[in-house]
Amino acid sequence: MAESLSEPLPRRPSDTQRPLQGSVTSHGTLAVYEPGSGRLVGEVRVSTPAQVREATAAARAAQKGWAAKSIKERGRVLSRFEQLVLDRADGIADLLVRENGKTRNEALFMEVLPVADLTYWFARKAERLLRDERIPLHMFPHKKSYLRFYPRGVIGIISPWNYPLSIPAGDVVMALMAGNGVVLKPSEFTPLVAERLRALLEEAGVPRGLVQVVHGKGDVGAELIKSGVNMVVFTGSVATGRKVNVAAAEQMIPCVLELGGKDPAIVLPDADLDATALKVAWGAFANSGQTCASVERVYVHESIAPQLTEKLVKIAQGLRQGEPNSYDVDVGAMTTQMQVDIVKRHLDDARAKGAKVLAGGEVKVYPDGGRFVQPTVLTNVTHEMALMRDETFGPLLPIMTFRTDEEAVRLANDSPYGLSAYVFTRDKAKATGSPTSSSPGR
Ligand code: NDP
Repeated sequence: MAESLSEPLPRRPSDTQRPLQGSVTSHGTLAVYEPGSGRLVGEVRVSTPAQVREATAAARAAQKGWAAKSIKERGRVLSRFEQLVLDRADGIADLLVRENGKTRNEALFMEVLPVADLTYWFARKAERLLRDERIPLHMFPHKKSYLRFYPRGVIGIISPWNYPLSIPAGDVVMALMAGNGVVLKPSEFTPLVAERLRALLEEAGVPRGLVQVVHGKGDVGAELIKSGVNMVVFTGSVATGRKVNVAAAEQMIPCVLELGGKDPAIVLPDADLDATALKVAWGAFANSGQTCASVERVYVHESIAPQLTEKLVKIAQGLRQGEPNSYDVDVGAMTTQMQVDIVKRHLDDARAKGAKVLAGGEVKVYPDGGRFVQPTVLTNVTHEMALMRDETFGPLLPIMTFRTDEEAVRLANDSPYGLSAYVFTRDKAKATGSPTSSSPGR
């Protein structure tokens, strides 16, 4: 069985010994440092390929008994997990803040409470969702045909660092309610939250061994796909998703891919500007912009562009950014240096090509490891700039104007990504019925 440690190892590396966040230390662990301050949070042991295979075998052994329980019984266990998440909300939020760098409010309202909520829903609705579905056979009225759902066995879940609790927890809860075992491979940057998730599930009554957590970098994720799991559920970047898709095909197992986005917001002339500005700013700056469905670019009708821009600049300038472990901070830290580098590259490229920075624009990386990107509003942007077409995954909000609905749709579609899209208007029929509501790309 894979060994992992949720508490810090006794030895704390000195500053000179400190390995890079997310890299494997000389003693075979991943060390996690607070993105807001650089303080050590904890370490986990990296899993070997043999341990990954053992984890899958152990989850399979435990799955047989779990699948034999009724959905109601499984639901009772998961409901206890939901209650534990609520009872321990503060402690879980604390770990999320320390490991990921999001603010306490974001940890509570975008991770902890949604996990309790989704567990509440699945624990009660799974029986209805999973019951037999009758398939009418029009030509053969004397025969009966059903679609029946069986557990697949063991589900391999590979998850990213930006929502280290809510993304894997949703996948784990669904897999468990359907009678499966799970092997979870969290991001190398956020392994400790995954360990807390497993511990809470076991405390709630999930049989020991049914949910396994393996640790390491991408190679451990690749081992997991080959380890005998019956299905892969992956959330992450398009580049890695492509590799996961190929690797799952080689194993002849199904995979679910939830990938990146470059989500546009289109603001039509009749939009309520105060409400739009607040929603767009939240969409762009929450979680420091490190959200797959973030508002990554705004297209606003030229007639209202000056007013909306002014409101967005004011909001961005009023946001309080800093050490995230406080209720007085609106925007926290960037989780990884790798992401800071991408955001900086997009910002530098935009500036070099003539973009105007109206708010923010500073990237602050402190010697102790704390790293922040200011909530930034830009105008004078074009589609020649990387920040209008590639996923930025940071708190940059570029604003571009349009004259006609067709132009807005064409610009929104001009990106290889497609995940979500937002339309702001008082005309509901226009928002939902026009091509502006269809998301482009992958
Ligand atoms: P990555 O694709 O870099 O990593 C995702 C996971 O895959 C990590 O656990 C990673 O491990 C693992 N991994 C890396 N290489 C392989 C491989 N060859 N085989 C199997 N697993 C591998 O994404 P990030 O963690 O950087 O997350 C950010 C991305 O996730 C963004 O693009 C974002 O848009 C997307 N995302 C999509 C969501 C959605 O619902 N559509 C939601 C949230 C994020 P390790 O980190 O250890 O390398």
